[in-house]
Amino acid sequence: IMIKTARFLTSNQDAKKCPPPNKPEYAFIGRSNVGKSSLINMLCQSKKLAKISSTPGKTQLINHFIINDSWYMVDLPGYGYAKVAKTKRAAFSKMTFEYLNTRENLMCLFVLIDVRIEPQALDLLFLNTLGDEGVPFVMVFTKADKLTPTVLDRNITHYKAVMQQEWDELPQMMVTSAEKGLGRDEVLGFIDNINKE
Ligand code: GDP
Repeated sequence: IMIKTARFLTSNQDAKKCPPPNKPEYAFIGRSNVGKSSLINMLCQSKKLAKISSTPGKTQLINHFIINDSWYMVDLPGYGYAKVAKTKRAAFSKMTFEYLNTRENLMCLFVLIDVRIEPQALDLLFLNTLGDEGVPFVMVFTKADKLTPTVLDRNITHYKAVMQQEWDELPQMMVTSAEKGLGRDEVLGFIDNINKE
């Protein structure tokens, strides 16, 4: 799967000011430090398209990239960083939800989850909210290289068990490592299939 060109387009604080919704769009979100910038750079085979570990929680911008001149990749602000003031946190989730609820060309939201850690209340709440609001999404486990295959398997099984308490049907889940390039074909193949429909 080829990414021939990946270009930064715009940074916005206002969902209404995003580029015209005339191309399919795929957005990435997760808690600060989940590995979102690393994943975006891995997918695009770029070292610096998305900024890795600037100040966590500081970027409250909707960043648009254009891929192969045919679809948008979007880097959404991280959520749930403790050091961001409560009011600010409320503000960026409002912006995020305005984006998620109004962006008509949004084909899928990729929700990133650090596969090393116990399911977090905030992530589960966010996922439930997406389900309630009908936002199309899949889950992407990050940093898989940091675990042995056995522990990786165990954590994913555990995550599914926790979600099964509230979900009749589990969302699609992908496993990635920005470090190793794991999951690149799966994520890009998924996008490619939707773009071909
Ligand atoms: P963001 O805040 O979600 O954009 O997270 P970053 O992409 O900046 O990554 C946060 C930290 O996790 C950085 O130190 C990255 O080097 C590290 N990291 C991100 N992805 C991976 C991965 O797949 N494997 C490993 N081992 N480390 C990663």
